[in-house]
Amino acid sequence: MTDKKPILLIALGGNALIQKGQTGTADQQFENLNLPMKQIAELSRKYRVVITHGNGPQVGNLLLQQESCDEVPKMPLEVIGAMTQGQIGYMIESSLDTALMEMGVDEEQDFVSLITYVVVDENDPAFQKPTKPIGPFYTEAEAAKLSYNLVKTDKGYRRVVASPKPVAIVECKEIKKLIDMDFIVICCGGGGIPVVRKERRFSGVEAVIDKDLASSVLAREINADIFIVASDVEGAAVDWGKPEQRLLRKVALPEIKEYVKAGHFPEGSMGPKVNAVIQFVESTGNRGIICNLDDIQKSVEGVAGTEICQ
Ligand code: ADP
Ligand code: MG
Repeated sequence: MTDKKPILLIALGGNALIQKGQTGTADQQFENLNLPMKQIAELSRKYRVVITHGNGPQVGNLLLQQESCDEVPKMPLEVIGAMTQGQIGYMIESSLDTALMEMGVDEEQDFVSLITYVVVDENDPAFQKPTKPIGPFYTEAEAAKLSYNLVKTDKGYRRVVASPKPVAIVECKEIKKLIDMDFIVICCGGGGIPVVRKERRFSGVEAVIDKDLASSVLAREINADIFIVASDVEGAAVDWGKPEQRLLRKVALPEIKEYVKAGHFPEGSMGPKVNAVIQFVESTGNRGIICNLDDIQKSVEGVAGTEICQ
């Protein structure tokens, strides 16, 4: 039996495909993927790679498309989520294939993009208090005709859905088998399609799971050797946005937990990344890092990003 390469799970942030200020044309998304995929292609020579990704802007665009057309039936959020797993999976897979070809990798590398369900608890308190804004902004008059839960923001009204905790990855067994067979697996897109289990059946629910927390559940399930959360910042900083802001480079669990308690990492952005990595490092003792998308390789080498250590 040959020695297996270590497993590297990389969670790609929203800006891997659409950067701030971009509308998200197909060309932009392919272009943005170039650098992350080049790095991942190189890393895949030494690691068995699993890729997860966000889908916020893509869900937003699909919702906007369906809200602006009454001739075609509107799809529920779970179906929109599945659509984005397909479109983003395709973009990642084809960009990675190109990167491997450009590197001159001769041997065949198998890939698979997997539609992934993630189980949530129907009694999760998050369902009582929807907090996650999604889709377009509405005027007061438009909002009055809608049956969604809405929040008022500076730019108008916006639909909000619950963001329950991920409990288990439904396709975990399949993912493990594919990793063992040396496939590069792209999965858990957008945090997975949230489902609740009723006896042996799963049904989709209207919610959005945080992709960093879902990726952490997967990283623990597959016992990843390294778990990387790649975003548009160098890492996690304390006193973010203040003159005394300080990037954390190597930080021990007890210390970062103190910073969490002190409120340095907001919900909905850095908070879930830090918690995702804490949960992973605590339960596996393996390496967990938050870094910039441009620094994925450097952070594997230990010279960039915020690494949370035991
Ligand atoms: P992603 O799409 O990668 O999940 P998010 O926007 O959710 O990205 O989270 C990354 C953002 O978190 C950064 O762009 C930064 O503005 C913000 N942020 C908030 N607090 C911090 C902090 N303490 N350290 C670093 N970044 C932070
Ligand atoms: Mg995020």
